[in-house]
Amino acid sequence: MADLGRKGFSHVPERISGLVDLAYNLWWSWNPAVKLVFKQLNPTAWSESVHNPVRMLHELPEETLLAAAHNPQYLRHYDIVMSRFRHELDAKNSWFASRYTHDRDLTIAYFSAEYGLQHSLPFYAGGLGFLAGDHLKESSDLGLPLVAVGFMYSEGYLHQHIGPDGWQENIRELLNRDAAPIKRVMYNHDNQLVVKIPFIDPPIYVAVWRVDVGNIPLILLDTDIQNNDPQNRLISYRLYTGDNELRLRQEIVLGIGGSYVLDVLGIRPSIVHLNEGHPAFAVLERIREQVADKLTFTEAARRVRETTLFTTHTPVPAGHDKFSHAHMDKYFSSYYPLLGIDRATFLKMGDSPTDPPGLFNMTAFALKMSSFRNGVSRKHGEVARDMWKPLWPDLAEDDIPITHITNGVHVPTWLDPKMETLLNRYFSPSCPQWLDQHDSPLIWEMISEIPDEELWLVHTQLKRKLVNRIREFKRRKWVGEGTDPVNVITGGALLDPNALTIGFARRFSTYKRADLIFSDLERLKKMVNNRWQPVQIVFAGKAHPADDDGKRLIQRIYQYAHQQDLGGRIAFVEDYGEQMAQYLVHGVDVWLNNPVPPMEACGTSGMKASLNGVPHLSIPDGWWIEAFNGMNGWSFGNNNHGPDRDRHDAGQLYELLEREVIPLYYTVEDDGIPHMWVKKMKEAIRTTAHQFSARRMLKDYVRMGYDPALRNAAQYRK
Ligand SMILES: *Cc1c(COP(=O)(O)O)cnc(C)c1O
Repeated sequence: MADLGRKGFSHVPERISGLVDLAYNLWWSWNPAVKLVFKQLNPTAWSESVHNPVRMLHELPEETLLAAAHNPQYLRHYDIVMSRFRHELDAKNSWFASRYTHDRDLTIAYFSAEYGLQHSLPFYAGGLGFLAGDHLKESSDLGLPLVAVGFMYSEGYLHQHIGPDGWQENIRELLNRDAAPIKRVMYNHDNQLVVKIPFIDPPIYVAVWRVDVGNIPLILLDTDIQNNDPQNRLISYRLYTGDNELRLRQEIVLGIGGSYVLDVLGIRPSIVHLNEGHPAFAVLERIREQVADKLTFTEAARRVRETTLFTTHTPVPAGHDKFSHAHMDKYFSSYYPLLGIDRATFLKMGDSPTDPPGLFNMTAFALKMSSFRNGVSRKHGEVARDMWKPLWPDLAEDDIPITHITNGVHVPTWLDPKMETLLNRYFSPSCPQWLDQHDSPLIWEMISEIPDEELWLVHTQLKRKLVNRIREFKRRKWVGEGTDPVNVITGGALLDPNALTIGFARRFSTYKRADLIFSDLERLKKMVNNRWQPVQIVFAGKAHPADDDGKRLIQRIYQYAHQQDLGGRIAFVEDYGEQMAQYLVHGVDVWLNNPVPPMEACGTSGMKASLNGVPHLSIPDGWWIEAFNGMNGWSFGNNNHGPDRDRHDAGQLYELLEREVIPLYYTVEDDGIPHMWVKKMKEAIRTTAHQFSARRMLKDYVRMGYDPALRNAAQYRK
């Protein structure tokens, strides 16, 4: 691949210049020992950089770096880390390479409109992004030959500030590209690679960036450059615009532009995995290349289909993009003739019996043009088969060719380092490689060897860390910006590290029913204000900038948080992102989840919590249907679809809290430890950590999807 641009590190001494490579590879972010090699340089600077080593290395004075380069103890640690790093980057001995030896030069291209990798890269809105980010990290750990494609968003997603009236304000903030772990892909030493998207009129140009996620290159497309007119510069400006035509242009850039950029970089994917319908136009570009190589459209489409995988992520209608034929004509009229087909055949690929005529449906298109299709939990597989059965009118519902692979989370990313240290102490003696085998259920049986008091101690430390963090955040805002004192309280200043703490954090879509627990205010007040067994709830999450219903939901919760008679025990933490998610899923006592079933296709934040011993309190939907065993958390609500559904579900939630959750938490034995609660924590970890790991998920994708598709690809090459 071409030379990579990064500037401003001439002050880093040669002896430790590997730090720059390390800083530009997100591999450091899921390896606690590697984080230390940065932190040890200067803990204050590390903290001020918000744990962003690129920014820290830029800002550190030369003296500090020189001192480290002459400190034998530091150098010892540095050398160990660098040798591990080089070893990791060599995928020859990986899980994948040792099992799937059919071909040496295969490549899997993974396309997604968002990636949640680390807070220094705000290229995500929510769950879809974190799933994609975890997919890349785990692909690196397993040594998959995968290349990813996405956007270099200038602004990322919004930053959230809650005004005095509780209304979400969207703060726009430009990403400082020089302080983020992204590199320009250069085509000679002085110029960044810029390509024109083939055969799309009016023309669109993209500049190319790269992020290294361990072994996995993530190629990012950037239209915010001078070659483009202002309209086209906007394409990669921010995530998810409300403007349908702009959205179409985004998806053209991602699918067609992304495929073309890979080609320019000399990467010929053997198979393509489309994460959601957004990048599905990649299919067209692959067909076009093969038609240019003299295949008929029918043959090219067949080959592309057999080497394309598609994952659908949501039953929510707004998650499925549709474009008018007029807009399709506007951009594709010089493109479709290159596929060797006429306009009607072209547009027909996006027809869906579920839509009125005249629309190009990206999900229907992706379903038709792939041969492996999946939903993201067992239940979502069923829902997706039901939803899309009109595309296969001749098949019985059970035969609809959409399967499921349940999502999982990247364990090294989401397991708290303190928790990891504790597990290490008890797992390592009998299994030193336990972290490498974390998708095996046997490993987690060892959880019973950890004394209750030690697990409880780590948990209470993480909880205190969360509460301190929230309070410190508010204190700084109050000092720095003169925030209204009421906003300081609603932001969590009165949180109590000893009270039973419920966490609810995710995007504020109405189907997730963030305000369900307020259905009977008097009953809730009794719980939160109980003098001996108080309960507090921490909320966090952003509403889509165009979603006023979501914003009203935030406002309602903010107003409850104001109410004196709720005792300062309801908090809304602003600007939910990767970092706050880490604190919350590690530090609360219970993770609450109450969507309207079956709208939560899977859900992943509950998995992150459960992995850290935070039991899930959830409606049976998404992953929880597969995970709940009666002892590893709680389940409430029972698919009641009537008009009093919310009241009914809330009633069951209160009942569970009053009768089981609260008494269990506060039943402390003579040694000061709530042993029955800790038992539940252990059961949560034991039963979910392996099964809902990204490792299990990736192995499923390889076995069910990638391997068969790669075999198809190998055939076509002969
Ligand atoms: C995990 C995560 C999500 C996804 O949460 P769901 O439970 O799937 O809705 C959203 N935002 C952040 C910051 C996350 O870490």
